[in-house]
Amino acid sequence: MTQTARGSVETSNATTEQSPTFESIDPRTGEVVGRHPMHDAAEVGGRVAAAREAQSAWAELGFAGRKQWLDAWRKLLAKRVDELAGVICAETGKPLDDARLELVLVINHLHWAAGNAEKVLRRRKVATGVLMASQAATVEYLPHGVVGVIGPWNFPAFTPMGSITYALAAGNAVVFKPSELTPGVGQWLVDSFAEAVPEHPVFQLVTGFGETGAALCAAGVNKVAFTGSTATGKRVMAACAENLVPVVVECGGKDALIVDVDADLGAAADAAVWGAMSNAGQTCIGVERVYVVDAVADRLLEMITERAGKLRPGGEPGADLGPITMLSQVDVIRGHIDDALHRGGRALVGGEHSVRPPFVEPVVLTDVPEESTALTEETFGPTIVVQRVRDADEGVARANDSRYGLGAAVFSRARGLELARQLRVGMVSVNSVNAFAGVPSLPFGGVGDSGFGRIHGADGLREFTRPQSVTRTRYRMLLNPMSFGRSKGTVRRLVRLTRLVRGR
Ligand code: NDP
Repeated sequence: MTQTARGSVETSNATTEQSPTFESIDPRTGEVVGRHPMHDAAEVGGRVAAAREAQSAWAELGFAGRKQWLDAWRKLLAKRVDELAGVICAETGKPLDDARLELVLVINHLHWAAGNAEKVLRRRKVATGVLMASQAATVEYLPHGVVGVIGPWNFPAFTPMGSITYALAAGNAVVFKPSELTPGVGQWLVDSFAEAVPEHPVFQLVTGFGETGAALCAAGVNKVAFTGSTATGKRVMAACAENLVPVVVECGGKDALIVDVDADLGAAADAAVWGAMSNAGQTCIGVERVYVVDAVADRLLEMITERAGKLRPGGEPGADLGPITMLSQVDVIRGHIDDALHRGGRALVGGEHSVRPPFVEPVVLTDVPEESTALTEETFGPTIVVQRVRDADEGVARANDSRYGLGAAVFSRARGLELARQLRVGMVSVNSVNAFAGVPSLPFGGVGDSGFGRIHGADGLREFTRPQSVTRTRYRMLLNPMSFGRSKGTVRRLVRLTRLVRGR
């Protein structure tokens, strides 16, 4: 038996030749809550082959046929929300209602993907233009085949399901590698799909550590959807580059919330504290920075301090926030708080003493030099840095001065949409926080070190397809330039025609 960061790995027994296994652990108590196989490259290859075999029948079902099955799965998920929420709590430690909320979003997205795939992806006619009038043209969006989905632990259902459900609705099979911290959630999702859709084994599971994820990238899948840290995202891209496997990469963030002089300060304070502290700050679109216009900064700071100061982390189902799921992150959080304070920042709530593994109490920092890691790197803990700016435009400039570009929020009565459009991020909520994640028709994803490609919405459906363009000759062209039998004057006449219709 080998000890790892999270529990132990049991190596195979020579007589049974079974896969080695690893433990899944409740971060609140250290209790072992599951044991899962550590799949090697051969086993990953087997799951990919099984998914590929099932995929063609799934694709042949068409949109309406797949919708029926996906609807059956959705209804089963809706019925068993509390059961799956219990597994999420056991593996991440998050409060029960937060796990339930995550599943409400999952169910909504599944409903949207199944209900809209046909409208977005079906074959449609496109205009050919005057020069190609002899052709009829269509475009349709066909499934890639088998999609490998690699997920994180912080929203172990919502995040990967943003790829899984859209890929399945588009006609793909999926092989899912959940985080080593949340394999039970992955197992539950795959088992529930098998129960609701017994005739189509198009959703397969592989479990293990990073090596299993790397094996999935190399197993002949037709696309990889990765969600996780920027560093791992780069490794996944490098592995996929070997075989030119396309990727969608959803990575970390350092989201900012901008508070303008005319903002509803109570609403802004509420949103800032929820955005920063919910899920113990372990949210890719969590609020990590607040830029508030100087004239209203004191009042906002008072409100944030008052709200954050009341929150208590704990292991009980009704706690405000749970533990830090991945213990190694505690050092990162502590490091960012230390760095901010040593550079001259001030703690208005909590401080270095707030880090009490596996819990971290809320920390509100202010007047932190912009080059501090608390403002440049993803903290992924229940901390927030509130900075004063001259005006909202300076807030936008500082928010944009980041290598990340995932989400953002703006609180302003007069300039909300105008400021939103100036932010170099994939998603913005005006006068709320993270609202975009709950709107299934909106694409989700970032720029810069936050990754590229989109899940959710019509773009998220298309992400898991390849467009196929088809032309059909309706009648013979009078001037056919693409034949060795063309006359000498053909191309000249075409040039004249082009000048006439396109040269003006
Ligand atoms: P990691 O990058 O550590 O891991 C993500 C997944 O990749 C895990 O399943 C992991 O497996 C796997 N993995 C690790 N190494 C490799 C490899 N070489 N090849 C293939 N797969 C590999 O991220 P976390 O799980 O810690 O998740 C937290 C991060 O995710 C944060 O940065 C957060 O911001 C980001 N995130 C981004 C979201 C977005 O939509 N933009 C949403 C949610 C989170 P294992 O766990 O077994 O190591």
